[in-house]
Amino acid sequence: MKTVDIAIVGGGPAGLSAAIAASRLGAKVALVDDNDRLGGQLVKQTHKFFGSKAHYCGTRGMDIAAILEQELRGLPAEILSGTSVVGLYGGRVLALASRERFTRLAFKCLIVATGAAENNLLFENNDLPGVYGAGAVQTLMNVYGVKPGTRVLMVGSGNIGLIVSYQLIQAGIEVAAVVEALPRIGGYHVHAAKLARLGVPILTSHTVLRALGKEEVEGAVICRVGRNLKPLSGSARRLKVDTICLAVGLTPLSELLWQTGCRMVYVSELGGHVAWHNENMQTSLCNIYLAGDVSGIEEASTAMLEGRVAGAHAAAQVIGLNPEAEGVIAGSQAELCAIRKGPFGDKAACGKSRLAECAALPA
Ligand SMILES: Cc1cc2nc3c(=O)[nH]c(=O)nc-3n(C[C@H](O)[C@H](O)[C@H](O)COP(=O)(O)OP(=O)(O)OC[C@H]3O[C@@H](n4cnc5c(N)ncnc54)[C@H](O)[C@@H]3O)c2cc1C
Repeated sequence: MKTVDIAIVGGGPAGLSAAIAASRLGAKVALVDDNDRLGGQLVKQTHKFFGSKAHYCGTRGMDIAAILEQELRGLPAEILSGTSVVGLYGGRVLALASRERFTRLAFKCLIVATGAAENNLLFENNDLPGVYGAGAVQTLMNVYGVKPGTRVLMVGSGNIGLIVSYQLIQAGIEVAAVVEALPRIGGYHVHAAKLARLGVPILTSHTVLRALGKEEVEGAVICRVGRNLKPLSGSARRLKVDTICLAVGLTPLSELLWQTGCRMVYVSELGGHVAWHNENMQTSLCNIYLAGDVSGIEEASTAMLEGRVAGAHAAAQVIGLNPEAEGVIAGSQAELCAIRKGPFGDKAACGKSRLAECAALPA
């Protein structure tokens, strides 16, 4: 069994940034990720990211992953890719499974940066082959170069639904329509405008009722919904598609945090159950930290900043607080604050302030 100062689970932007910050400050770090390639969600993002220059705006997500990985490989951190964390024993030991063997990793501090899982949607025949999550479609197209189908119905008009629709078109796949249950488009209008210019109808106040087909998707029935999001009778119509792509939100992947026994709270603005945490990304158990989408669904920029805060704070806990660690923590916290005060940060800001209110309540 190996022992490290800080074990980090998840090699997306949050975990990579945490590992870089902690390793730079002199802590003995091991980063574990279940994929062979580091970067988490970033490896399938072929588009240029929005945000600020300081957080790689204008750079493709996959290139941001490569930059962070290169930075980490220049530091004395151990990288265990292709390895899943499958359990936690006694609060201080992780069980790891790679293709070859099971091992254990003991830690003084743990940073959970496991990201999020895609939400499913309840409708008739939603288990037919040809119904995918948007993340799976991106992985097929952008990582493996495989087309998921020829004509797609996209469900959900948040940024993920809009961006993946555009990427489908770039891959030579037709997008029949984007349906959105709410009366307005959820994502940035710059992404919606690109689709509109290409003639893709974005149907707000619409949902998918049923997938058609016996062995695989051969079509979809869509309909209008009222204010209560219930289908309006007489509004159903058929679309000829062979793929239905669901982009209907993400839920923090917090199983490992539940297992630690730290305090969990439900905050809808953060995407569901999250571990309660303070501004240092520390949970109710002082040696357990979290960062990125597992702490509330946001973006790569905030994931990187939260990772830096968690990494620097955990490093300070094991090797002692010093001005360098204090600088990383304060600087990243200030940037997080500024992003959440920005035009698109209000939901996360509201969720994080609800967490702060929970601190006053008994566990
Ligand atoms: C289509 C799309 C477009 C986006 N566009 C932008 C954008 O333009 N700008 C922006 O800032 N953000 C964007 N994002 C959001 C951004 O990609 C995510 O917010 C960010 O990747 C979250 O980082 P993370 O490190 O928390 O999680 P992730 O990137 O999800 O990484 C988590 C990692 O942990 C691994 N893992 C999970 N559980 C375990 C386990 N038990 N053992 C080992 N490994 C584990 C996962 O496999 C994964 O590799 C976009 C997302 C999508 C889907």
